Amino acid sequence: MTTTRPEGLPDQLRHYIGGKLVDSVNGETFDVLEPTTNETYIQCASGTADDVDLAVAAARKAFDEGPWPRMMPRERANILYRVADEVSKMNERLAARESFDSGLPIRQASGQAKRAAENFRFFADLIVAQVDDAFRMPGRQMNYVNRKPKGVAGLITPWNTPFMQESWKLAPALASGCTVVLKPAEFTPLSAELWVEVFENAGLPEGVFNMVHGFGESAGDALVKHPDVNLISFTGETTTGQIIFGNCAPTMKSMSMELGGKSPAIIFADADFEAALDSTLFGVYSLNGERCTASSRLLVERPIYDRFVEAYAERAKKVKVGPPSDPDTELAALVHPSHYDRVMNYVEVGKQEARLVAGGKRPDHLPEGNYLEATVFADVPRDARIFQEEIFGPVVAITPFDTEEEAIELANSVKYGLAAYVWTSDVTRAHNVSHAIESGMVWINSHNVRDLRTPFGGVKGSGLGQEGGYRSLDFYSVQQAIHVTLGDVHTTRFGATGYSENDPGLAGPGS
Ligand code: NDP
Repeated sequence: MTTTRPEGLPDQLRHYIGGKLVDSVNGETFDVLEPTTNETYIQCASGTADDVDLAVAAARKAFDEGPWPRMMPRERANILYRVADEVSKMNERLAARESFDSGLPIRQASGQAKRAAENFRFFADLIVAQVDDAFRMPGRQMNYVNRKPKGVAGLITPWNTPFMQESWKLAPALASGCTVVLKPAEFTPLSAELWVEVFENAGLPEGVFNMVHGFGESAGDALVKHPDVNLISFTGETTTGQIIFGNCAPTMKSMSMELGGKSPAIIFADADFEAALDSTLFGVYSLNGERCTASSRLLVERPIYDRFVEAYAERAKKVKVGPPSDPDTELAALVHPSHYDRVMNYVEVGKQEARLVAGGKRPDHLPEGNYLEATVFADVPRDARIFQEEIFGPVVAITPFDTEEEAIELANSVKYGLAAYVWTSDVTRAHNVSHAIESGMVWINSHNVRDLRTPFGGVKGSGLGQEGGYRSLDFYSVQQAIHVTLGDVHTTRFGATGYSENDPGLAGPGS
C-alpha cells in the first residue's frame, strides 16, 4: 500500500551554501527512497569534501565578518522568533513531507513543527535572559565571564524525526551566535529543505545557515575533519559516534554526542498496571519504534509478570499497522529497506533466543514496503542479543525480575545508558531505584515528556556531554575568563629588586 506524494516537491534536493541552493561540485546525486514501496522518488545532491569546503568557507566568512555573532541578544532573538513563526506555519507541509520520506505515521508527524518552533522560542528567550558570572576580589581584582560564540558548528543528524532533531541543534547553535553547516541524514533529506525557506523568510543573514547533503562517510566525514569547523554536535549510532570521536581528535574539536539506547522500563507489582501498559506500548511502538529513548526492555516484577505479558501481547496484536498517510495508522513503514532488513534479522535472532508472543512478521495486508507487526518477545535472558543490542524498530524484550536489586542490575547490564522508566507507587523506591540506574534520564510513572530546561543526554555508550537549556548554550559558547586588576599590580620584580617579604610569590590568590 503506497502513500500520498506531497505537493510542491522540487525537481531535486540541493545543498544550500552561502545563501544559494547549489548542486554538488562534481554533479553527483543519490537516490532517495519512499519507504512504502522502496522506489526512488527524488534525487538528492551528494556532497563530498569539495562541497563541505565551500559550505565551511561560507559559514566561516559569516562568522568572521558577518553581523550574526555581533548582534545584540535581543536582535538575534527577534530573528529566532520569526524562525519559530515560519516553522509553525508549515505544520501540515512538514508533517506530509516527514511522513512521506521517513514513514512516520501522519498523526505522529503532526505537531513536530510546533515542537521544533518551541525550540527556537526557548533559546531566543534564554539568550535575552542570560546572565554570566562576575567575581570580585575586593580592592584587588574583578573577574568576569565574557561569553562568545564558539565559531562554525558542524551539525550531523539522524533520520528519525529528522526535522525535530535538526531543530534541537540549530536553535541553540544559532542562538549562541555560531554559524552552521548541517549534514542531514541521507535516508531522509526531504524536510531539511524547508529550513532554507524558513531562514530566508525570517531574515537570517546569508552564510549563517549552510547545508550539505550526502553520505556520512563522505560529506559527514569531511565536515568532522575540517580544520575550520570548531565543534561537532552529532546524533546517531554509538559506533558512528566512536568513529567521529577519533576523527575530531586531530583538530581538537568540541564534541557533543547523543547516541543509541536500550532503555529499560522497570515495572513493579505495585505500579498502576494500566498506566504502565499504555505508556510502555506507546514508548516502544510510537515513531515506528525508531526512537532513541524507546523503552525497548521491559523488566516486570514476577507477581504481575504473566498478566503483564499477556495484556501487552494482546494490545500489541491490535496495534494498527498501515501506510504512514492513513490518520488511523499507529505503526507504519520503517525508514529504509536496509534498516528493515536489520530489524527483521533481529526478529529472527529473537525467535532463537526467547518466546515470541506477538508479531514477528510482515503484516499479511501489506505485501510490500518496510512493514513489521508490533513484535513482543517474552522471557528474554539478559545475555540475549535482543536484550543487549539496540534494534531501533517495533520490537520489545520482556524479562521478569524478583527483587529490586535484580531489577537495577538488569537495567544496568547493557552498554547503553540513555533513558529509563520506573513504575511503582512506592515513592521511596521510585527515587532510590532511579538514582541507582546508570542513565542520563529517568522518568518516574511517566514517559518522554520533558521540560526544555532539563538536561538531555546519555551516559556510557549513549553519549558524551549533556545538552538542554543553558547546557546547550554552554556547549556552543566559549566562556572566556577576564581578570582585571583594581589596584596596583603586585609583581615580583625579576631582574630588579628580586624577591621581597611582601611578594605574593607564585602561590598568589587564585593561582
Ligand atoms: P548513524 O550513526 O548511522 O548516522 C547519523 C548521522 O551521521 C547521519 O547523518 C550519517 O550519515 C552520519 N554519519 C555516518 N557516518 C559518519 C562518519 N563517519 N562521519 C560523519 N558522519 C557520519 O545513525 P542513524 O541515522 O542510523 O540514526 C539512528 C541512531 O541514532 C540510533 O542509534 C539512535 O538511537 C540514535 N539517536 C540518538 C538520539 C539521542 O538523543 N541519544 C536521538 C535520535 C537518534 P548517513 O545518513 O549517510 O548515514
